Amino acid sequence: MTDVVDAPAAVKPINHWISGAPYAGSSGRTGPVFNPATGRQAGAVDFATAEEVDRAVQAAKAAFPAWRALSIAKRAEILFAIRELVHEHRVDIAKILTAEHGKVLSDATGEVTRGLEVIEFCCGIPHLLKGGMTEQASTGVDVYSIRQPLGVVAGITPFNFPAMVPMWMWAPAIACGNTFVLKPSEKDPSASVYTAQLLKEAGVPDGVFNVIHGDKVAVDAILEHRDIAAVSFVGSTPIAKYVYETATANGKRCQALGGAKNHMIVLPDADIDMAADAAVSAAYGSAGERCMAVSMLVAVGDVADPLIDAIKARIPNVKVGDGMDAASEMGPLITREHRDKVASYLEDGGGDVLVDGREDCPDDGFFLSPSLIDGLEPGMRAYDDEIFGPVLGVTRVATYDEAVRLVNDNPYGNGTAIFTRDGGVARQFQFDVQAGMVGINVPIPVPVAYYSFGGWKASLFGDRHIYGPEGIDFYTRSKVVTSRWPDPATSKVDLGFPQTR
Ligand code: NAD
Repeated sequence: MTDVVDAPAAVKPINHWISGAPYAGSSGRTGPVFNPATGRQAGAVDFATAEEVDRAVQAAKAAFPAWRALSIAKRAEILFAIRELVHEHRVDIAKILTAEHGKVLSDATGEVTRGLEVIEFCCGIPHLLKGGMTEQASTGVDVYSIRQPLGVVAGITPFNFPAMVPMWMWAPAIACGNTFVLKPSEKDPSASVYTAQLLKEAGVPDGVFNVIHGDKVAVDAILEHRDIAAVSFVGSTPIAKYVYETATANGKRCQALGGAKNHMIVLPDADIDMAADAAVSAAYGSAGERCMAVSMLVAVGDVADPLIDAIKARIPNVKVGDGMDAASEMGPLITREHRDKVASYLEDGGGDVLVDGREDCPDDGFFLSPSLIDGLEPGMRAYDDEIFGPVLGVTRVATYDEAVRLVNDNPYGNGTAIFTRDGGVARQFQFDVQAGMVGINVPIPVPVAYYSFGGWKASLFGDRHIYGPEGIDFYTRSKVVTSRWPDPATSKVDLGFPQTR
């Protein structure tokens, strides 16, 4: 549990949201919510009991029949209204993110904008839910398929994208006609409650969208709840694995996205300045707390020394500071514990620390400046672990084949990128590499909303990626209808297995 640092006497209570209204928890357990830029506690978030989770699920269950029966045209209308309100309030949401997560305001606004793209995709739900139809599949027989919602579905989300990742889940879920229970990260929960208010204002009926805060108690109550049909999870790999195993053991459909160790390969023919700009942006943006952050640079051949020099030249120019300050480019980390854990890799993570972010760092808050470690290899702690902070590692290899082997041997398979001017090698990389999202001269290849997001290997448990077409699949199940309208006069008993005629 995070230590309270200089806690003010009164902190803002952050309550659940059930049936279209705030719901004050009665468990007596709360978690501290900090402003990471100052290190001071700003809020106390309710931690739910299993009974409170059940209350939210019952609200969602009661709202389901009417919501699924609403015409798709009306649901689309409400989604358009949500889109307008989220767009109108995107900076208000971003300010909440900066205050609790610490990311700089421009980055927070970018997060909301990428989430909005998923909402916009879901405005096309009439088209997305179209089924298939075969006339005269057999003589006088038509066959058609339809997609129907699952019922009550739940989302459990991480701290690093407190607005966007929930949007990846609730937008397609409710567009498909499900009702939703969100359990956001307890570290930055306010954006979810603010979103709930916007959804209500947009015309989402009470009970369709609920927020329940908490820790493992709330998560376990969701995973074991008999009235929840499906669970989407995004977070670290050990918890993703646990969530997937527990949810599926309880008969639920589950997609659980886990952690990452994203490699960016730089070939000798790459433009050094472009590769250095990309590496610095992708490693230190959002203080490295992105599941698609570049954390390992794989320098091929003689590219390492000039590339490292170019990165070292850029690091002092990265402005580290309070995310509310328009001049800041990189904010603090989420908690003191996490900052200290990330910093420990500079102490004994292995390799050769070229830039130590503990030096030249703001005194208040949970800051760590950009750091660079050369000479990392598999087997070293700083190579093997997902650090999830502003620490970029460099490994040196002689050939393209060695570089690809490193990526493919890694247990994670979220994102990866290659920087080269050789289209043939880039195409071979796309063919060879074992990862779910691949960038060619693009360091953070987060797919646009009409594709789906997800990794391979230990970065995803389950079959379906999140949002886009696979998100629509995940939140619906298909039904195939076979129909005929024969003349009753032709009817007769036939005990044989139905065959096409
Ligand atoms: P986390 O796994 O600690 O927490 C995620 C959620 O699980 C939170 O809601 C939390 O309350 C809950 N949780 C935590 N411990 C639990 C436990 N023991 N039992 C049950 N529930 C528990 O992750 P985080 O620190 O909030 O987020 C960072 C991680 O998320 C990183 O590993 C990052 O790579 C990953 N992430 C992955 C993606 C992706 O798309 N693959 C996207 C964003 C973040």
